[in-house]
Amino acid sequence: MIYRYDMSDKLNKLSEALESNIPTTKVKISDGREITIRSMIVGELKLLLLAMEGESKSGEWYDTLQEIVNKCIKDDVKAEDLPTGDLELIYINIHMLSKGKSIIPVKYICEEEIENDDDFEICGGEMKVKLDLKKAYLSEATIDNVIKVNDRVAIKLRRPVAKEQIYYDADTTEDMFNLSCRCIQSITIDDEELVAGQDFDYEKLASFFDYFDSDTFEKMADYINDTPLLTYPIAMQCPKCGKKHSIVLKGLADFFE
Ligand SMILES: [Zn+2]
Repeated sequence: MIYRYDMSDKLNKLSEALESNIPTTKVKISDGREITIRSMIVGELKLLLLAMEGESKSGEWYDTLQEIVNKCIKDDVKAEDLPTGDLELIYINIHMLSKGKSIIPVKYICEEEIENDDDFEICGGEMKVKLDLKKAYLSEATIDNVIKVNDRVAIKLRRPVAKEQIYYDADTTEDMFNLSCRCIQSITIDDEELVAGQDFDYEKLASFFDYFDSDTFEKMADYINDTPLLTYPIAMQCPKCGKKHSIVLKGLADFFE
């Protein structure tokens, strides 16, 4: 008789022992859950470096982001299921934990028009700002996710995930319509609740949208546009022309551009 010696058990123990030293922390996301994350290790830092070096489009950059977040989340939560803002919030917390600091230096160029004799020219003054990632927060959602179509029918929406927000262009009516429909989580008729993916799919549902009035659709679009994003207000003054600028960073791309 022989038996097969199982190496994987011992190796699992090894990875467990190695992981026990990696710093972890908790992040509270928009639905109130507390997610445990760990710091990035060499594998993830490599991924990040590759993504930064390559001139990746925002879609590809988000793939890397999701991959890193998935590796660093210790709970049973998938990055691809998270609304954009939550994914971004988790990512900057992983970033802070891994780098051991929360400050990132950024530079802005003043584009104030300055009168020069009879002509105008762009100021071009440099403004150096230190962003403190600890102070970044999720913008607050104000619109309710339940929309009444009439006295008997109400629809409940979910937040779009990052991939959806990149794929669909919220500025075009058709994309906004499709995105809103994808985000229908359930429909209540009188007291009965129909659940997406279980009681209906989007293709079958589409033929019913003709019954919705423009007011309903507008409310759906408002809810989608109200999705919380990583936010950071900055006030700065141009050292060259003295102009006071105030801008608000919205979304992770604004932070790491
Ligand atoms: Zn200036």
